[in-house]
Amino acid sequence: MKIISDIQELRDHLRGQNRASFVPTMGNLHEGHLSLMRLARQHGDPVVASIFVNRLQFGPNEDFDSYPRTMQADIEKLEKEGVYILFAPTERDLYPQPQEYRVDPPQQLGDILEGEFRPGFFKGVCTVVLKLFSCVQPKVAVFGKKDYQQLMIIRQMAKQFALPVEIIPGETIRAEDGLALSSRNGYLSAKERTEAPELLKALKEVRQRVLDLNVRDAISLSKIEQAAVASLAGRGWQPDYIAIRQQCDLAPASNENLEAGEPLVILTAAKLGKTRLIDNLEI
Ligand code: AMP
Repeated sequence: MKIISDIQELRDHLRGQNRASFVPTMGNLHEGHLSLMRLARQHGDPVVASIFVNRLQFGPNEDFDSYPRTMQADIEKLEKEGVYILFAPTERDLYPQPQEYRVDPPQQLGDILEGEFRPGFFKGVCTVVLKLFSCVQPKVAVFGKKDYQQLMIIRQMAKQFALPVEIIPGETIRAEDGLALSSRNGYLSAKERTEAPELLKALKEVRQRVLDLNVRDAISLSKIEQAAVASLAGRGWQPDYIAIRQQCDLAPASNENLEAGEPLVILTAAKLGKTRLIDNLEI
């Protein structure tokens, strides 16, 4: 595997390759990331991964400085997956000047859910992803459904800018007890780690209640959301949201959507101690 930090050197190595498939990450790689590398291999060749902890997408009180950086272990994992190039730029490589041009996703997608609780997050994500696409020029790029809203926003960005890249979704990989793998799981204490699977349980309970719902029942979807938030809070979590949304545009779901059998998704973010976890479940 070639490890490259310089944009020009990356371009030199990829010259003439028009089927590259790309998996951007922030490192501290786990099985979720590695599943995306395997998916990338099915859709293109060579596979290019990137590791870059992107300052632009972190808020001032977020964990940019403490975000786990485990480059040597990551390199070994990527080598085992047959990744051809690891693009691991420094901040000076990727942002030699302050990145003043940014990509601002539309409010109705970028300022809801994660965007409401992490202002500017998706602006930072879109900006770095567009720049990484410009560096790698992949034919396909793979993103995890674990970050459901991010996947949707990147897809829309690629569509609206007519980027010549196909966005492929990867399923969420979970620990045996159901907790979605995440680099931030490492922040959990042993006690919190045993509690953490309750987040998926809450999503499953919401899904069951939605499926059991008789659409003519007086109970609304927002009542189900509120009950789930209260139940997690009662267990000591600090939930930011549990939201039942339409899969197509993440707009709030209504009983009419339910009646029409439209695909829905339940998204959540909640803090356990100091660790903020996100997850989602499709209906
Ligand atoms: P990150 O390093 O957290 O920026 O994630 C890099 C990519 O891996 C993103 O497309 C994520 O959605 C994806 N990802 C993170 N966790 C998982 C997981 N548990 N299963 C599948 N994909 C994941």
